[in-house]
Amino acid sequence: MAEQNLKTLLTLKNLNIWYATERGESKAVNGLDLEILRGEIFGLAGESGCGKSTLITGVMRLTKLPAHVQSGEAIFHASRENGQEQVVDLLKLDPGAMRPYRWRNISYIPQSAMNVLNPVLKVEDQIADVIRAHSSMSKKEAQARIGDCLEMVGLSKKVALMYAHELSGGMKQRVTIAAAIVLKPDLLIADEPTTALDVNVQRVILQELTDIRERLGLTILYVTHDMAVHAQLSDRVGIMYAGGIMEVGKTSDVLSEPLHPYSQALVEAIPDIGGERRRIEGLPGAVPSPLNWPPGCAFHPRCKRMLPICQEKRPDLRELKPGRLVACHLYQ
Ligand code: SF4
Repeated sequence: MAEQNLKTLLTLKNLNIWYATERGESKAVNGLDLEILRGEIFGLAGESGCGKSTLITGVMRLTKLPAHVQSGEAIFHASRENGQEQVVDLLKLDPGAMRPYRWRNISYIPQSAMNVLNPVLKVEDQIADVIRAHSSMSKKEAQARIGDCLEMVGLSKKVALMYAHELSGGMKQRVTIAAAIVLKPDLLIADEPTTALDVNVQRVILQELTDIRERLGLTILYVTHDMAVHAQLSDRVGIMYAGGIMEVGKTSDVLSEPLHPYSQALVEAIPDIGGERRRIEGLPGAVPSPLNWPPGCAFHPRCKRMLPICQEKRPDLRELKPGRLVACHLYQ
């Protein structure tokens, strides 16, 4: 990937997505800034409860009460059929106006993708529904496109005529990927889609996603807490904690030289099968409650390198060197 030539596809600015609860606002996404580049595979990492899935539903405009977008911007550069780009703030669109962007410009593979297939419809009919609703393709063109997409994800064209109960878990997952790419979206968002699969199937599907990105020129936002998956798949990675981004950089750089103390703890926790035997130290404490994030840097109660200012002032996400951003007072 020639990173220096990539243009911005999606910019999230000071995004806040909160849940209204009886005990107050639960700030699942809390002042988050992020930029996704066209053509890259961007990995979003972070432990459970850090706000990853809430972030995705917010960008897709799928948040449901009590979740609500409190503030922020999601500036998206959508491709149009005439080859032009249309710049739109996704968060300003009403639900009806968002519809034309779904599947055509942004598609989504949810966490429970293996369970989203309709048991009484053939694969072809389910994917054809998407095509009919969002494009003017003829029936014949749609059938050909569905067959091509099934082959792209490593399945035979014959799978188009099968029902969900005739497919293995890995095949169902591939069908959901085929449906997500059938209209060649600008951005494919994948939320832990291989978590329920065995590691061999997972490895093959990750390779297929990489191949699909090359072939269709897609941008992929891949969300998982699994750093080993990011190491295999992602060009760049963003480390999320307490509803915000702590560090962004090329995946190889972040894994070989993590700068933020939280990223350092995550990377230290990756077992090294070939290396010396060592005890893996877990992070002390637990992820704090989004109802009451700690003041200043939200990581400070668990940070071994805390400075006095860390309890008072939230650090900005700043670029230390080209492409490397860190939100930590140690570098400011
Ligand atoms: Fe640790 Fe302070 Fe950096 Fe937060 S800002 S990670 S508390 S050193």
